Amino acid sequence: MIRLDGKQTSATLKREIAEQVEQLVKAGGKQPHLAAILVGNDGASETYVASKVRACKEVGFKSSLFRYETTVTEAELLSKIEDINSDRDIDGLIVQLPLPKHISEEKVTEKIDPSKDVDGFHPQNMGRLALGSPCFVSATPHGIMELIARYNIQTSGKKCVVIGRSNIVGRPMSILMSQKGIDTTVTLCHSRTQDLKEICLEADIIIAALGKVEFLKADMVKEGATVIDVGITRVPSDKTKSGWKLLGDVDFENVAPKCNFITPVPGGVGPMTIASLLFNTLKSAKKEVYNS
Ligand code: NAP
Repeated sequence: MIRLDGKQTSATLKREIAEQVEQLVKAGGKQPHLAAILVGNDGASETYVASKVRACKEVGFKSSLFRYETTVTEAELLSKIEDINSDRDIDGLIVQLPLPKHISEEKVTEKIDPSKDVDGFHPQNMGRLALGSPCFVSATPHGIMELIARYNIQTSGKKCVVIGRSNIVGRPMSILMSQKGIDTTVTLCHSRTQDLKEICLEADIIIAALGKVEFLKADMVKEGATVIDVGITRVPSDKTKSGWKLLGDVDFENVAPKCNFITPVPGGVGPMTIASLLFNTLKSAKKEVYNS
């Protein structure tokens, strides 16, 4: 069994990005610049945004954080996004989700200029992904594809089961795994799927992205499978200083012995997500997806 080490792989990816930034700046280009909008002070969102800002520093990016109280209006937020869209120094913009109920996440996502949408959530980027055209691939699915490529996991002709059909993970993952060059045969499962256990037992690759702690059990996985655990759930713990720990969607202890490859939680998919956001921002700065 090989553990897919997201910590180490993301460190490699970040080193590669930092080298490219250095070259870019040496050649007279500007530092890539990522802007983030954070509304409110939800603990998990604060942690995510802080790690994104820290990661920017690590690779030599500029970053700008725009913070708002939960009382901010939708109009104010949309107007800020417009300003950032037209700011030529900013290459990428992310709006940390979730937003307060009175603000439409759909409107906010659609307001972001697709050429700065480094989260890859804009319909134009999602549409391009489905068509196999150049686009920003959302960070978590991109990170998973990097792990699969860098560990040389065979995909062609294999059966892949994706559990969860969200727009940010499951659905784009199912598109990527079926694209030409990857060539798995994909089954996309969700809460209404029947006979999930039997479907999983057929799979060479299982990507669990449903947000249910230790849902995937050993009796759902065949010998020699690859298991990618996307789930991150905070559960109370008296063994940690913070009072909580992170658990995934896979019963790691019992599933791992059956696998050829498996991602741990934490230290698997999670670290790859932030590295992929930086990767997209660099691509944006280099105008590799959209030319203008
Ligand atoms: P989400 O929007 O809540 O979607 C969950 C999906 O799982 C839905 O499609 C749902 O089906 C399906 N589902 C729920 N219960 C199921 C069951 N019993 N059997 C089969 N399918 C079931 O979640 P998400 O945003 O994709 O996130 C999923 C997990 O990944 C969460 O733990 C989240 O924290 C984590 N995550 C991690 C990263 C990272 O960087 N590692 C990034 C993003 C998300 P329906 O569509 O039928 O409701």
